[in-house]
Formats: sequence, structure tokens, C-alpha cells
Amino acid sequence: MQRGSPRLDDILYFGNSRFGRENARGRRERKREQGILQTAEIGIIGGSGLYAMPGLTGVHEERLETPFGAPSDNFVLGELEGRKVAFLARHGRGHRLLPSEINFRANIYAMKMLGVTRILSVSAVGSLKEEHKPTDFVMPDQFIDRTFARAGTFFGDGIVAHVAFGDPVCATVASAFERACAEVGVVGKHGGTYVCMEGPQFSTRAESNLYRSWGADVIGMTNLQEAKLAREAEICYATMAMVTDYDCWHDGHDAVTVDQVVAVLHKNAENAAKVVRAAVAAMPSMSTARSCGCASALQYAILTDRKAIPAATREKLALLLGKYL
Ligand SMILES: [Zn+2]
Repeated sequence: MQRGSPRLDDILYFGNSRFGRENARGRRERKREQGILQTAEIGIIGGSGLYAMPGLTGVHEERLETPFGAPSDNFVLGELEGRKVAFLARHGRGHRLLPSEINFRANIYAMKMLGVTRILSVSAVGSLKEEHKPTDFVMPDQFIDRTFARAGTFFGDGIVAHVAFGDPVCATVASAFERACAEVGVVGKHGGTYVCMEGPQFSTRAESNLYRSWGADVIGMTNLQEAKLAREAEICYATMAMVTDYDCWHDGHDAVTVDQVVAVLHKNAENAAKVVRAAVAAMPSMSTARSCGCASALQYAILTDRKAIPAATREKLALLLGKYL
């Protein structure tokens, strides 16, 4: 759906009753005057350490409302390497939101509203293997879910859908990250399992050793719901997990000082900005059809009899389901 289409315009103003009686053309004209709408093709979600995207030009901010509430912060829209991108600080600028408090649904839905088809996600993780050292980057291709207190689907309220999730990240985006790491000169490994825990406390040693016995690579608190929701929204998604430290299983864990952790966080953020920039430049053009399966993830996923879907739910999910209903 392109910017300016009546349906997207209506959704962008979901909940804004002040404009409720205005007709679609009036809304479009008013928004064009205000310069409110600017589509983006690539979304960037920054995690701990990466709260802004250096190098963005023509920047302006946009506050979006979605049928699922408000995203973590304003979106920062601009151009990077000649591509239109939308940046969002996952925890809000100033790091205000606990992992369990992040409105993942609003964040991903808002990306869809902006026209984003690919998301580059960046986050800080602990390492569960000796070989993944602090300042290494890992692009996981699998997840294990250890969360229990967050919404991780757009569906429900009268509509049931089950998307395939055997390959939870988009190989195109993960490969772009991998090549960009090589270009920038950062250790970047494609493949590995990310344990997503609820937090906010870190693991106990028993948990950390359990995850190691499962063969998991890194542990974090935020990326699984993003991957699930991006798949439901038919957005390509991959994450770059930046190793901050070894989790508590490691003998050296307790010897690490706060200064050392902060130094690694800064180094990682600096490298991440360079890698993201190179990955954006390397991303296939928006005009070429996506060769992965992400763009049609919902094609066979909706089980509910179309006639049984409540009108309010249809309306709420029109942006995601329009082409199938
Ligand atoms: Zn994809």
C-alpha cells in the first residue's frame, strides 16, 4: 500500500477523532500541507547504546498512533545512503522502557504504516559461548522463547492466523548485515540461537548453564517479539546482536567492571552505526520484488472463516490483511 492511499491515510489517523469527519481528500491535502507523511523503505530499530542514527540527512520526526497504541518514541525519518529510512529507539530515547514495557505491536505496526518493507534491528546481548567475545556481532537465525509477559501477535479478537516461523529471520537482511560487518571490519557471524528472556533481571547461573546446554549462542530481552510481529506484518526482519559481555556462566563474569561494560557498549554502538549504514546501502532496491517468503507470510495463515471476522477486527488489521480479505 502506498503513501497517500485513502486506506493508509485513514489508518495513520486512527483514533484521531478531531479529523474523523473530514473526507479522505481533505485529510490527504491537509497532511501534504503539513508534510506529515513521508514513507520509508527501510526501518532501523536501535537498542541499548544506539539511540540515534548518525549520518541521517533531511531529518524530521513523526509521532504515530496505531490501533495497538503508541510506539516507543517518535520515529526519526530521513535519508541514509540515498535510501529513505525510519529510525526508532526501541527503549525510547533516554532508555525509559523496560523490555516488558515495550509496545512491540505498535512499533512494528507503525513501521508498516510508514511503508517499511525491511527492518534492520540492533540490540545488546550477553554471550553464552566462549567463541562469541565482547564486541563481536552475531546475526541469529533461530530463537528460543523464554518470555511470558508481553503481546506477540496482531491476531485475536475474532481472527486466528498461524504464520510459519521455522526460519524466523529474513536471510536477505541477515546476509546484508553479514556483508556490511565484513566491509566495516567488524567480526560478524551469521547464524546462531538467541534466547529471549523476560528480564529485567539477568539470568541466574542455573538458567545460563541450561541455555548453554541447549546450544544457544546469545541471550537478550527484546528481539523475538519483533521477529514474530514483523513476520505477521510481512516485513523482512533480521537482528544484529552486539555482544556486550559474557553471561553469568563465565568465570570472568564477576570480574568485569562497569567501566569495561560501558566501554564495550560505546564501541559496539559506534561499530553498529557503521554496519547499519553499509547494510542500508547494500539492501536490494525497493523496486525489485522480494525473493524471500516474508512478503507473503500471511497468504495461507488465516484460518478464520472470512465471514466470521468481526468488522472492528477487520478494520483494525486492514493495513496487514487488506490484500487477503
Ligand atoms: Zn525477507
